[in-house]
Amino acid sequence: MLTFFVSWALRCMTFSYISYYYKPKLPKRLILKGQLSEKRAKTMLKSKMDIKRGKTKKIYFKNFTLVGRADFISDDCVIEVKSSFNNKFLIPSLAQLNLYMLMEEKDKGLLIMGEKEILVEKSNFVIRQSLAYFEQLAKHILEFKIPEGDTEFCGNCCFTKICFNVNKDQAHL
Ligand code: SF4
Repeated sequence: MLTFFVSWALRCMTFSYISYYYKPKLPKRLILKGQLSEKRAKTMLKSKMDIKRGKTKKIYFKNFTLVGRADFISDDCVIEVKSSFNNKFLIPSLAQLNLYMLMEEKDKGLLIMGEKEILVEKSNFVIRQSLAYFEQLAKHILEFKIPEGDTEFCGNCCFTKICFNVNKDQAHL
């Protein structure tokens, strides 16, 4: 059974394909930035509601398993934190949040991207699109066929040195 991470949802499919074989290695400064953002978000959220850290969960489908952990959960809401607002990552982040809502059986989600807070209701449409994406990824992996890249993400990708589909003009990570 193929196992995929929820955080790959609707990102460049070449990124997810490579991530299946190699663990993405983020620069230390980005890891620290992410940790700091989570810490800040935790303090802010705790002043408003009861929250706890999400636990790693799996959800099984016919051709693949999804695994992931929401950053925080409250009684009725799932919260995902990103260190900054990046328009390119808005849709993948919403897909990720919706899949966590599915896993946690909650209908409300809060996406924190830097200073922005986006409250959302669970969207079955977004969930269907995300699952279709993972179906497609599974097909590529089973057929050993590298998918086409979504090169608008190359500027924020850690695979630029090994990727066949990279757009060198955009890559600077
Ligand atoms: S370098 Fe570009 S095309 Fe290749 S995986 Fe990353 S985002 Fe996708």
